[in-house]
Amino acid sequence: MVVKENKQIKKTLKGLTLEELREYFLYIDEPAFRAEQVFKWMYGDLVDDFGEMNNLPKSLRQRLSKEFNIDTLSLVTSKISTSTKTKKYIFETAEGNKIESVVIPERKRTTLCVSTQVGCPLDCKFCATGLMGYKKNLTAGEIFDQFKLSSKDYKDGEITNIVYMGMGEPLLNFKETVKSLEIFAEELTTGVSLKKITVSTAGIAPKIKELDETGLNVKLAFSLHSCFEDIRSSIMPINEKYSLKENIEVLKDYAKRTGTRITFEYVMLKDINDRSEDIKALAKLMSTMPSKLNIIPFNSLKHMNPSGLAGELESSSRDKIQWFADKLREKNITVMLRNTQGDDIAAACGQLAYPKTHFPRKGADN
Ligand code: SAH
Repeated sequence: MVVKENKQIKKTLKGLTLEELREYFLYIDEPAFRAEQVFKWMYGDLVDDFGEMNNLPKSLRQRLSKEFNIDTLSLVTSKISTSTKTKKYIFETAEGNKIESVVIPERKRTTLCVSTQVGCPLDCKFCATGLMGYKKNLTAGEIFDQFKLSSKDYKDGEITNIVYMGMGEPLLNFKETVKSLEIFAEELTTGVSLKKITVSTAGIAPKIKELDETGLNVKLAFSLHSCFEDIRSSIMPINEKYSLKENIEVLKDYAKRTGTRITFEYVMLKDINDRSEDIKALAKLMSTMPSKLNIIPFNSLKHMNPSGLAGELESSSRDKIQWFADKLREKNITVMLRNTQGDDIAAACGQLAYPKTHFPRKGADN
């Protein structure tokens, strides 16, 4: 006789907010303080075994381990740039999707860049992630576990900042992105507070408004790349749906309520957005709200052999970028000129995509 194993599909605990844990423990007739205890074990002490939660009764630990998994991701591989010490991680979700995260050490801070989706639906012409298409939204647990797993390689507190600038559009995965921010916002959570977290968006105006309404004071970066609607639409199709004008209005409100400066990101594309009229338009736009400009050299997609516009795009020259930044500074605009970090390991902005030949792995499925 064949005995069918009664395999219960386990749910995953990681990703539940403190509020959701309270609801759960209430539901199973456990005191509310169990929520704080379990929350602290998961997000504060980063444990991945119910057995270690030694302030919970044994029976409860057994019950939880029967019902739940804790961790969501597993490490596939990591690679470190010998020159900049930028480290790229490839993680795998339970269903076998691969995502990437990057740790970027700088003089005064170390920043973790997390993904929010597997792939991305936006199809920005300059971005490698767009070329792979969209597969799925990550859960809040999967967003948090990128921090958990990468921080193992660093000292406690060494990762000082988190940017939601990896694969995907965070505001198109609104619910789980906000839940992950709520988790980081709790004092019981280890490491990084919301003041040191930046969510980057290509501009989903109604969702920027919704993020504003959550009252979470996370910093916001806006991928601008051109101040002209038609040019912006040609490199970022999402601009057809939510215009720059519409986005600027909600960004102003966001800056006002949170008292933060909006970071405008600007990838330098030769002859597309590096002209004198772009400087004029940028200075005008940025004077309408507290803001700073993050100028990023374009990291080529040529290694991916893309056809069409993506293959034709080129970065502005070094001299041109310097000229552009100097002119804006003359107009009292705060400009940060980012050096490309990690392009030798394809971990730079817009180069995150899986699978790709640039990051070969034994038995890779590409
Ligand atoms: N979807 C979000 C977050 C991911 S992109 C957003 O659009 O903001 C993170 C940043 O990398 C964005 O500013 C994006 O415009 C930039 N980027 C994308 N491709 C790039 C490339 N090839 N070279 C340099 N920066 C790039």
